[in-house]
Amino acid sequence: MIFSSNMLKTYKLCPQKYKFKYEDNFTPPQNAEIFEKGKKIHALAHYYLLGTDISKFEQSLSAKEKILWERLKTNKYFNLKTFGTEYELNCKAGKYWIGGRLDAVVYDDDENYYILDYKTGAVPAEPEKDLQTIVYMCALAAHLKNFKSMKFVYLDLRNNTEKVIDSKQINPAIVENILKQIEMKKFAPQTDKKVCENCEYKMFC
Ligand code: SF4
Repeated sequence: MIFSSNMLKTYKLCPQKYKFKYEDNFTPPQNAEIFEKGKKIHALAHYYLLGTDISKFEQSLSAKEKILWERLKTNKYFNLKTFGTEYELNCKAGKYWIGGRLDAVVYDDDENYYILDYKTGAVPAEPEKDLQTIVYMCALAAHLKNFKSMKFVYLDLRNNTEKVIDSKQINPAIVENILKQIEMKKFAPQTDKKVCENCEYKMFC
């Protein structure tokens, strides 16, 4: 089994929610609309980096989507050399496997590598502690043979800003600790009621 950063994030937020979602495989219906904008931009970026002619697809974007897409297309990191797009990677964290699909990996002439993550919604407040940052960096570090430096770049398309994290800032031990808790089947409910208020499982919990 490969643990994704979403699985680890869910556990960190609420172990009980993790159990619903990944042990019991129970997912309540959700409003799919909120994911649509992000999906389109991700698909467009993927085909663009592959060198596909996307001009017709671009015409189908709404005015708001066009703004987000232009911001991504002209971003300095997005215009580096492409190493991989929608790139599936995994690695070992102790005795467990972790991994995921990275939006893109790019690099420059000096072997500096950058993991790109396109955000049409919120960017993590503390990205160096975010489990996606840690999992993706560990996976890419295990995969690359030679690199001078590695950074994770959150591209905040709503605000047209970036958050850049160096691989030296992350602590991979956090991941292994969570995986040990999952293995021990510690699925306590969240005690912060504010978290429960926004939870899609609150009707069933
Ligand atoms: S309602 Fe609260 S305790 Fe229940 S799964 Fe959601 S976050 Fe966890």
